Amino acid sequence: MKRPLVYYGHPTLRRKSEPVKEITPEIHQLVQDLKDTTVEHNGAGMAAVQLGVLHRVFILCRYIHHDDGRWTMTSPYVYINPRILHYSKETLIDTEGCLSLPGLRGKVERPEKIRVIWTDLEGKTQEEDFEGYNARSIMHENDHLNGVLYIDRMTDKDRKYIEPDLRALKKKYSI
Ligand SMILES: [Zn+2]
Repeated sequence: MKRPLVYYGHPTLRRKSEPVKEITPEIHQLVQDLKDTTVEHNGAGMAAVQLGVLHRVFILCRYIHHDDGRWTMTSPYVYINPRILHYSKETLIDTEGCLSLPGLRGKVERPEKIRVIWTDLEGKTQEEDFEGYNARSIMHENDHLNGVLYIDRMTDKDRKYIEPDLRALKKKYSI
């Protein structure tokens, strides 16, 4: 079921999410709602906090780079209680956007590669290495679980440039 999004300016977006203790029917429903709402907004992923639910859960599609140069996107994977175990020293700068900050994009420097451990929807522990765009989007979603937004990681100079748009969003969506 599609649910309303929580936008920039809403205080919940800045709160820290709590670990999931048990994968209940409520968590299954939450994951379904995340999927439905992500599709509705043409997104690639979404954290539970973006629906106003403070559980450490996000869903995220992966980009697959094919040998012929094409990119395709998988259906969303489910990450419950994720932890990033390792960050590479090498970093990349790329542009990010967020469904909770509609119409905005910004450059963010992040580690190029990470190792992540998480629980899937079946309750199994998964551990995997990610790089490039897939690593970046996991770090973006994982930040949401700690109340952190990509704009917090932009340089002061870049952030200043979008400050008027941020103020407008805050005015529109704050409660
Ligand atoms: Zn986001």
